[in-house]
Amino acid sequence: MEKAKIEKLIIIGSGPAGLTAAIYGARGNLIPLVIAGREAGGQLILTSDVDDYPGFDQGIQGPELMARMRKQAERFNTRFINEDVVSIDLKTRPFLIKTENHELRTKSLIIATGASAMWLGLPSEERFRGKGVSACAVCDGFFFKDKSVIVVGGGDAAMREVQYLSKICKNVTVVHRRDVFRAQPALIEQVKGKPNVKFLFNTTIVEFLGQDKLAGVRLKSTRDGSLSEMTIDGVFVAIGHKPNTDFLKGQLELDEKGYVVRQPADETHTKVPGVFVAGDVSDRRYRQAVTAAGAGCKAVFDVEEYLENLR
Ligand SMILES: Cc1cc2nc3c(=O)[nH]c(=O)nc-3n(C[C@H](O)[C@H](O)[C@H](O)COP(=O)(O)OP(=O)(O)OC[C@H]3O[C@@H](n4cnc5c(N)ncnc54)[C@H](O)[C@@H]3O)c2cc1C
Repeated sequence: MEKAKIEKLIIIGSGPAGLTAAIYGARGNLIPLVIAGREAGGQLILTSDVDDYPGFDQGIQGPELMARMRKQAERFNTRFINEDVVSIDLKTRPFLIKTENHELRTKSLIIATGASAMWLGLPSEERFRGKGVSACAVCDGFFFKDKSVIVVGGGDAAMREVQYLSKICKNVTVVHRRDVFRAQPALIEQVKGKPNVKFLFNTTIVEFLGQDKLAGVRLKSTRDGSLSEMTIDGVFVAIGHKPNTDFLKGQLELDEKGYVVRQPADETHTKVPGVFVAGDVSDRRYRQAVTAAGAGCKAVFDVEEYLENLR
């Protein structure tokens, strides 16, 4: 394990939040070191068209957007380690961070490790991601304007996806494996009243079907195991997100779902002075590239103030 000097700023994560923090940090002479993670580039690597990130009037492919953000950070001499953080000690100063091959120390830290969308885990799902299968209605709903889509799930997040899609799509079918929803009754009532929304209870998707893009799904009844097929243009998997915070357990306050808790009424501070947070890892609500990028910028402003006061 190689020992390193004390860094001014380490950023964990290289999605929009981490890379924006890197650009601002580097330009502010904090000489940031980014631990990019094994899934360098973050969630937008998993998608194709990004049509809502400002500045790209014709849209941009997710992987290209992330490659350009990284190049922009490198232009100002940001350094990168393409490994995952395996453990962290925030009780010692400077903070101690261990990756697979490095032991690092830093005066300040920005955590930008995101929250991964949960998928059904079917082999055919991976094949159609970005080609009809999505996990984000706000991001991809517009591609299914006036088309027929399925939303998979029964919680609050699923109902919000249904609400959003019902305003854009021709019809929305909610596929849920149980016979009751977990979502709040008020949300359920709102979607139940919509004429273009219907419900398929006690049903799961067992296969995504199609050639180059999604054309249908194979469904299975959880009651009697019977199989059926349905023609469909798009499927939105809305079964939850998992914040990437396992390495923070016992070090930083997390909420019941694992999201990092920010100081009340504050943007990026955590309860540990010197440790800041940005993006989806502490955001259950907005979860967009542009909001994550904005949070990355804010976190650097707060780091600068913190380091200034350390002197
Ligand atoms: C299918 C899909 C399509 C989407 N489309 C759009 C869209 O069109 N427009 C839009 O605005 N948003 C879209 N989103 C949402 C957007 O991707 C997220 O809001 C955004 O990526 C969040 O940025 P982030 O930097 O907070 O986290 P992420 O992008 O999730 O990045 C997290 C980073 O942390 C790293 N990491 C995780 N754990 C560790 C660890 N232990 N050690 C080191 N590094 C770690 C990962 O490798 C990654 O680099 C989409 C999401 C999905 C799933």
